[in-house]
Amino acid sequence: MQLSEGARSVPAGADLAHIETWIFDLDNTLYPSSSHLFDQVSQRIGAFIATALELDPAEAKRVQKSYFREYGTTLRGLMLKHGMDPAPFLEYVHDIDLSPIAPSDDLEAALGRLPGRKLVFTNADAPYAERVMARLGIGHHFSDIYDIKAADWVPKPFPEAYERLRLLHAVEPERAILFEDILRNLAPAAALGMATVWVRSDSDWAASGADGITPDYVTDDLAAWLGALHASWAADGGGGRAG
Ligand SMILES: [Mg+2]
Repeated sequence: MQLSEGARSVPAGADLAHIETWIFDLDNTLYPSSSHLFDQVSQRIGAFIATALELDPAEAKRVQKSYFREYGTTLRGLMLKHGMDPAPFLEYVHDIDLSPIAPSDDLEAALGRLPGRKLVFTNADAPYAERVMARLGIGHHFSDIYDIKAADWVPKPFPEAYERLRLLHAVEPERAILFEDILRNLAPAAALGMATVWVRSDSDWAASGADGITPDYVTDDLAAWLGALHASWAADGGGGRAG
């Protein structure tokens, strides 16, 4: 794909030895999109819109996609254009079956070996993020979840969301890295000075509206990428990052 030209698939450990804050998107980043877990959320968003706005399913889907493109998330569009209360929406769309995802020993181990703190930065809400991370067996590695409520309802990719994250969590952008499956959500992080990793997925949302964005790295497998980073550090004799 032309969007990933210039992005590297293998992490260069020496280039990332300065990272102190590891920031991860949740959906389709900390678990593989091939699980189709997020498809359940997406379908429930469509159903919620159909009921709330009294639309047929096809029109609801069109509104869902158009708000996602224009407002960052469908919820933001519903709040701004229809004055919708976010709480019932978030509860309904995240009431899904988590059985398609399973604990990942490789990811758990790779996260555990990362030096520094780990944060989740999600356009979803914290109760859902906690359930997903508990299911994956990785929640104990994260010091905090910066969710859509903490972001004062302004989602990625709006720069205000990243600026608020920076202030609330005292993130030094030059010492931070963001992992994310939706390519356009990496651009504001890069603009602040963060390193970026596109965890590429087969979702039709992943690369939409992202012309001209080149992440520093691209991978199809987060755990394998982190494993390669640890291997690079080990080969460098630790480089201060013995892991
Ligand atoms: Mg995501």
